[in-house]
Amino acid sequence: MPVLQKSGMKKAEGTQLKETPRDILTRFMTEQGGMRKTPERYAILDVVMQMKGHHSADQILEMMPDKFPVSRATMYSTLSLLVQCGLVYNHQTEGATLYECAYKVPSHHHYICTGCGKIWDLKDVSIEKAASKVKTPRFKKLRCSTYIYGICNICQAKLARLKKKMEKERKNASMTREEKRFAQIDEELSKAAAWFKEGQ
Ligand SMILES: [Zn+2]
Ligand SMILES: [Zn+2]
Repeated sequence: MPVLQKSGMKKAEGTQLKETPRDILTRFMTEQGGMRKTPERYAILDVVMQMKGHHSADQILEMMPDKFPVSRATMYSTLSLLVQCGLVYNHQTEGATLYECAYKVPSHHHYICTGCGKIWDLKDVSIEKAASKVKTPRFKKLRCSTYIYGICNICQAKLARLKKKMEKERKNASMTREEKRFAQIDEELSKAAAWFKEGQ
């Protein structure tokens, strides 16, 4: 389902492109009023602007230089600030929020594995074309961001192994939590197959 992002992102992508990420953050904090412009916040910004791909708050904590040890609370509050001022995208995956640099990176689509939570960029203009045709009465569209949930090839192999094991043992009581989760994904997969067939 397309998800419309916050309009605040427009500032980072549109007319303000000559501003550096530090300028954008400073302006945003000034506009909000009363926000402390701490070196830690700018250090987190610098790390996030350099990173490639999609990372959790804990992974970003590990990327911080030694001279800027920041607490988990500061990391979360700063990431949320960076999302609000349009410098960072956040994505909800299985059990984690992943962050991605949004500065000069146009909004794009993703596919996410529900087994392991990995996320990939999806470049397909047909989604924009379809979204532009979708009618939204009394509502102006700003942007469109789509997430396709599924199961990656590594998790498919894991699922196949689990099914074999289950057939052998023929008992569910001894399943681990992860095995139960994969059995549930398998059930969803069979429903999804029918659903996609109907949509064709
Ligand atoms: Zn996976
Ligand atoms: Zn992405």
